[in-house]
Amino acid sequence: MAQLFSTKSRKLRAELFIKHNGQCHICQGKILGDECWEIEHIIPISLGGEDSGDNLAPAHQSCHRGKTKEDIGRLSKAKRQRAFHLGGRVSRTPLPFGKQSKLKRKLDGTIIQREPRKRTDAP
Ligand SMILES: [Zn+2]
Repeated sequence: MAQLFSTKSRKLRAELFIKHNGQCHICQGKILGDECWEIEHIIPISLGGEDSGDNLAPAHQSCHRGKTKEDIGRLSKAKRQRAFHLGGRVSRTPLPFGKQSKLKRKLDGTIIQREPRKRTDAP
């Protein structure tokens, strides 16, 4: 995700630039002296990346903007998957005879009424 230029020190910027041989980590191209570049989070903070050390790399401003757009898409997908995983979202197109269905098809092909689920959390 985009990080404001002013929050990183010049020293850190210089160290990162040298560590990555002045290479944009997205397009692998050389960052020339007159080109604008930004410090980029390889794994976005919003997806659990750290704001330090190995998760930082220099990137062209234009490359960085493109990646940030993609990251926003990935973040939205991660949020949807998380909500689905935690049961916050129920499928609008459940599988026929799936766990949500009132009917159950046995392996031999007979269709029976599914028994209501028994709670298993009681001792
Ligand atoms: Zn680049």
